[in-house]
Amino acid sequence: MNTQESKSSEHLLCPSYVAKPGASLFGIVQADGKVDYLPEPIQIDKTFVEEAKKGRPAEERFRFAGNCAKGGCHQWDGHECGLVGKIVKALDRVEDGLQACAIRSKCRWFAQEGAKACANCNEIIRNIEAKLVGEVGEVMA
Ligand code: SF4
Ligand code: SF4
Repeated sequence: MNTQESKSSEHLLCPSYVAKPGASLFGIVQADGKVDYLPEPIQIDKTFVEEAKKGRPAEERFRFAGNCAKGGCHQWDGHECGLVGKIVKALDRVEDGLQACAIRSKCRWFAQEGAKACANCNEIIRNIEAKLVGEVGEVMA
């Protein structure tokens, strides 16, 4: 990784973030379990989080992005996110054109896996990642 890449990589977003004030809402999980990606991310506030937490876990109904925690996340392998590779391997969906996604230019998963990440992204909700990759534990972002 060159210096420029290394620098930009410091600010990449995790597309599997928790519902907390300041996070960006970028997708809504539809009845069929697939994500409808918003044209623009919406920064959520405390009121949104409180309302969203009244029903099923917000992370099962929405997709949020926030700064990748890197070493603060158990999925970080010291150099990159270990989760996206496991998801791509587990789901193994092939690329069929890129869906629109408002966070792509800053998404760590896309930065690492490119279109393969997107092909395997739209059925991911934060709380099923552990099942998909056969692990327990929570992302600590
Ligand atoms: S390392 Fe953790 S916080 Fe960063 S993108 Fe991966 S799952 Fe998200
Ligand atoms: S992997 Fe692709 S579709 Fe998923 S959040 Fe990142 S850029 Fe968007």
